[in-house]
Order: sequence, then C-alpha cells, then structure tokens
Amino acid sequence: MAVRVTVWNEYLHEVRLPSVAAVYPKGIHGCIADFLSAAGMDVRTATLREEEHGLTEEVLANTDVLLWWGHIAHDEVADGIVDRVYQRVIGGMGLIVLHSGHASKIFQKLMGTASERLSWREDGEKEIVWAVKPNHPICRGLGKKIMIPHTEMYGEHFNIPDPNELVFISWYEGGEVFRSGCCFHRGNGKIFYFSPGHETFPIYHQKEIQRVLINAVNWAAPAEDMPEITYGNTPPVMPVQTAYEART
Ligand code: ZN
Repeated sequence: MAVRVTVWNEYLHEVRLPSVAAVYPKGIHGCIADFLSAAGMDVRTATLREEEHGLTEEVLANTDVLLWWGHIAHDEVADGIVDRVYQRVIGGMGLIVLHSGHASKIFQKLMGTASERLSWREDGEKEIVWAVKPNHPICRGLGKKIMIPHTEMYGEHFNIPDPNELVFISWYEGGEVFRSGCCFHRGNGKIFYFSPGHETFPIYHQKEIQRVLINAVNWAAPAEDMPEITYGNTPPVMPVQTAYEART
C-alpha cells in the first residue's frame, strides 16, 4: 500500500511575498506534494488557515507520515491541534520537521526543549550537507555530500537533545557547522528534522533534497505489521503461582 503522506505548510510567505511565490508558485507544500506523489506516495496537503489547520482527527488517522513547514506563525497553531499531532506521533505516525519548524510547538513538545535556539544568517551563502551516517536509509541514492548553492545559515549551538541518529552535518561558507539531519524516536513514532529549505531559495526543487525527503518519508512510515501494543493494568500471560499476601 502506498505511504499516506500529509504535507503541512503555514502558507503565509508565498501569499504575502511575490519573491517567494515566484520560487514556489503552488506553495512550498505544493512543490513537496508534487515530488512525493511522483515517487508513488498517496499525498494530501493541509495549511494553517484551513479549519483545524487542515489537521482533523480523520486526516491524522489516515496519515502515515506528516511533513511540517512553519516559520512566522508558530504561535497561531492551536494547542489542541498540537496535542492531537503529538498523540499520533507517540502512537506511531512519522513526522518530518523542515527548516524553521525547529521552533514549532509540535517539535518543541516532542523534543522537550522550551526554546528555539540556534544561530542564523540570511546571506545566500553556499552550504554543503555531509552524510555522516552513509549507511542510513535516508542516505539511499545520494552521494557523500549535497551542494546547495544558496542557503540560509543555521549554526550551532542547536538546542536539541542529542539525536538518536545524526545523519547529516552541514558546513557553511561563512564557517559554521550545523546538525542538519537528525533522527529521533518518541513513543512509537519516528521523527526526522532536516534544516535546508528557506523559502526564498529553490532548495526543494533540488533533486538530492527531494531524494532526502522521499527517503525520510519511507524511513518514518510506521511498519505495517507492527506488533499490537497494550498499556495499563494487564492479566498475566500464564498463571502466576507465587504465593503473595497483600498487606495493608
Ligand atoms: Zn529560513
């Protein structure tokens, strides 16, 4: 069965700024949805201004992997929707957090960090994304590095917990480095953070970047044959024969 993907975008820059609309005429979500669909995935999109931000119970129940792009309106995302996404991730839905999504409510809730800290600079400099875990499924079909001609610099220190797997480290022309591809596990869900993707640069049009995201969706998708999980008070699997007298 095709992986069911929802691409969520704040979708404000593209509406307000002609310079961004020129790079992403269908919105960043439209661009990402197009190349994921072309890879055989079952894709829908959702945006901030839709009812329930487009993330209804039904949409999330039918989503294997959610991609998240947000930047200037993190505070406008309703806490109830954040909790709903959080519960789905804990239950096994994959989540891919893009670029400035590091400061989103959902990423911070999942990471346990109360702040969005990193350093940044918007000079359009060169970035090299180095694969530091080349045997990871997210690196399939890629070379050892991805060259991005123009990017926004995101630099260390990046205020995240140590990732479960560090897949990419970026170098920037101005000298900084950044943990640009990080995998985390929370509950039954897999999370991948990927930093390249500033809205004024055509980064999501780049084939290698598309390959990273296609690979990441496949990696983050829940296993179809995952064992059943039960929590809480539970009867023994076989009779318990050890004598025990409860004391009050
Ligand atoms: Zn940016």
